[in-house]
Amino acid sequence: MSDRDSESDIRSGRLAPEAYARNFADAHPPLAPNQALIESDRCYFCHDAPCIQACPTQIDIPSFIRKIATGNVKGAAHDILKQNIMGAVCARVCPTEVLCEGACVRNDQEHKPVAIGALQRHATDWLFDQHIQLFERGPDSGKRVAVVGGGPAGLSCAHRLSMLGHSVTVFEAREKLGGLNEYGVAAYKVTGLIAQREVEYLLEIGGIENRLGQRLGRDIVLSRLRQDYDAVFLGIGLGGVNALGVDEPPVGVFDAIAYIEKLRQARDLSQMPVGHDVVVIGGGMTAIDIASQVKRLGAEDVTIVYRRGPENMSASSKEQAWAQTSGVRIKHWARPLRLLARDGMLTAVEFEQTRLDSQGRLAGGVDKFIIAADMVFKAIGQMLIKDGLDGNADVLELRGGRISVDAQRRTSIPGVWAGGDCVAGGQDLTVAAVEDGKCAALSIDRHVRAISKTEARHG
Ligand SMILES: Cc1cc2nc3c(=O)[nH]c(=O)nc-3n(C[C@H](O)[C@H](O)[C@H](O)COP(=O)(O)OP(=O)(O)OC[C@H]3O[C@@H](n4cnc5c(N)ncnc54)[C@H](O)[C@@H]3O)c2cc1C
Ligand code: SF4
Repeated sequence: MSDRDSESDIRSGRLAPEAYARNFADAHPPLAPNQALIESDRCYFCHDAPCIQACPTQIDIPSFIRKIATGNVKGAAHDILKQNIMGAVCARVCPTEVLCEGACVRNDQEHKPVAIGALQRHATDWLFDQHIQLFERGPDSGKRVAVVGGGPAGLSCAHRLSMLGHSVTVFEAREKLGGLNEYGVAAYKVTGLIAQREVEYLLEIGGIENRLGQRLGRDIVLSRLRQDYDAVFLGIGLGGVNALGVDEPPVGVFDAIAYIEKLRQARDLSQMPVGHDVVVIGGGMTAIDIASQVKRLGAEDVTIVYRRGPENMSASSKEQAWAQTSGVRIKHWARPLRLLARDGMLTAVEFEQTRLDSQGRLAGGVDKFIIAADMVFKAIGQMLIKDGLDGNADVLELRGGRISVDAQRRTSIPGVWAGGDCVAGGQDLTVAAVEDGKCAALSIDRHVRAISKTEARHG
């Protein structure tokens, strides 16, 4: 490990122009039609299939795989999208190794599950290529629902509400819909325009009005939405970033999420400035993604430092292996003590080794070490921004800093539902956010229809 003080060397254009396209190509290229047929043949079409139980949206996996095997790709896509309207992006980004493929019985025999994610991608890509719309808006219910946040949770909720005949207005702070599918997930997982293509497919159903550039807390408040709409769904994700807890020099410390957002929106990746020596602090998917991507932008030396062991990282072992094969080093059991700087520019990070004390709590050790760095990325978790979450006299209950919801995704405020990353107890995955949005829509539907019946009874 290097312990020299580096001169700051943050610059763009580190690689030859053709290297960017190569480094950011599709991480898992699609199956050819004959490969999809062969792969679908590996499925046992299990009764009580464990893969279905492991899918947060409960897609009938054996059913869609059987349809691929019999040449009914449209039917396969319908099986997928009726449960998970963002099935095309989920096919690319789901950590299948810990979800459906992790549960596949084929693991027991061959240590190789059926490639469920790749088959899902095969079916949904085919559908988009054929421009076939499978869903239509239900008969108009006369009810209006406000959805705040146009990420996976909000869009899934909006789509299901429209299927049920309700009129939806999506308030989205950014200028584009899609949430982290568009601004966050690693570029080599969602190549091309797939995230926007999926959003367009979903909106084709109609009955969904989009108000872009509208931020809750700045342009709108919850109390007003409650007055103007029959129900409100909050799918605002986690917009704030946790602090490192050490003094930061003016130049050299970056928020991983903000950098990834720029990278995802960059037309020319060679314009992305990147350091020579990069340190990433964190242990989740964000840490893996920022480290792998800056390495692919040409950073020479990239190290993830995480305060606990590999088994404690929220990034799966497959994600960790992916970073390592990208050339990233992962250093466990250490935390930052201080950032070293010269003339206001970051030069290195001093760490202390960590360990568990006799009561199982994380403690600092006596050993210290220094890693040279001209760039440090904070990837230590995000937090809910609470601006605008007032509900007149009603109080929005939080748990662990996120919105508390019940099994139907109802919040403590009557008429307000929430889902996705902004709620407590979730998995912080795209597929889980889609499921939350769907569940909330079904609950909202029951609620607004029950109110209609009561109103009708009382004249
Ligand atoms: C770097 C990174 C990589 C990831 N990689 C993966 C992966 O590979 N696989 C996976 O399954 N998951 C991944 N995730 C997690 C996944 O992206 C999230 O779980 C998912 O996007 C959550 O969806 P959401 O709709 O709850 O929130 P978001 O996707 O964050 O969407 C929230 C939306 O609300 C908008 N918004 C926020 N505040 C307001 C406001 N006040 N007013 C109006 N609009 C607002 C935002 O602009 C955004 O569009 C990753 C996350 C990160 C950060
Ligand atoms: S567990 Fe595996 S073999 Fe069984 S139905 Fe699911 S994908 Fe097919």
